[in-house]
Amino acid sequence: MPELPKVLTDIATALFTKPATVTAVSYPDKYLKKIVFTGDALKGLKCPPGAQIEPRVSDRHMRHYNPSAYDSATGTMEMLIYLHGMGPGSAWAEKIQAGDKLNIMGPAMKIHADESHTKQVFLGDETTIGTFLFLQNSLAKGQTFTGVIEAEPDLLHLNQTVNLKLPNVARTSQRGRALMNWLIENYEANQDALFYLLGHNASNLQLRDWLKDKGVPNSRIAMRRYWADGMEGL
Ligand SMILES: Cc1cc2nc3c(=O)[nH]c(=O)nc-3n(C[C@H](O)[C@H](O)[C@H](O)COP(=O)(O)OP(=O)(O)OC[C@H]3O[C@@H](n4cnc5c(N)ncnc54)[C@H](O)[C@@H]3O)c2cc1C
Repeated sequence: MPELPKVLTDIATALFTKPATVTAVSYPDKYLKKIVFTGDALKGLKCPPGAQIEPRVSDRHMRHYNPSAYDSATGTMEMLIYLHGMGPGSAWAEKIQAGDKLNIMGPAMKIHADESHTKQVFLGDETTIGTFLFLQNSLAKGQTFTGVIEAEPDLLHLNQTVNLKLPNVARTSQRGRALMNWLIENYEANQDALFYLLGHNASNLQLRDWLKDKGVPNSRIAMRRYWADGMEGL
């Protein structure tokens, strides 16, 4: 939802959100913030990798994020938020500190970890690092993964800072091109994999079309747009 009147955001907060308190924040990089938060209302939830949550980030805005870790017993979640600096979600994440309260909707399932495929391919951008980290850390025995995260040329260390075991490749003037190059070069070795396409919408669509041209069925493409050029609050 791009923006709601404050009164509706207040009603949604009262009816649908779970309260929590931030217990720690850290900066794996100046553009990537880890936020750890906890609350009794977060205990015992169904929140596997791929679950999405929606914190209230201002009087009039809710924004989607994916936990990068979740402990059901203590009701503790983590998020990794890319500070792109262009919207209320990013501004909220920049400001939030230990001790602050937050209200979240969800979790809701859109992307599912899938144990029926041995190989997984993860393709995304800076906003998908948390999702892929949670997926990586939850793979079943015998499952493998490969892939790449496209990032700004000065952020090629991002995955390493959070122990996501994938390389970063530098974004070129054409967003998504580096992902496509990786896919073209690595498709043959991974053609029976489950392909996760997350992040920038136009990049996902190009990768999906290429895979479909190769005959990959929808059942082996897990796609979710996290943001789109010029659009607010997907
Ligand atoms: C299911 C789901 C899970 C998500 N999980 C995460 C997560 O774990 N971590 C995370 O960091 N993000 C995540 N996102 C993406 C995040 O919600 C978007 O980046 C969102 O736009 C942030 O809101 P905002 O208020 O900062 O910007 P908005 O108000 O939504 O957008 C303002 C402007 O910024 C642009 N913009 C948005 N994102 C980017 C970007 N990455 N780079 C450049 N321009 C951008 C938009 O096109 C728009 O023009 C997720 C999104 C979805 C739908």
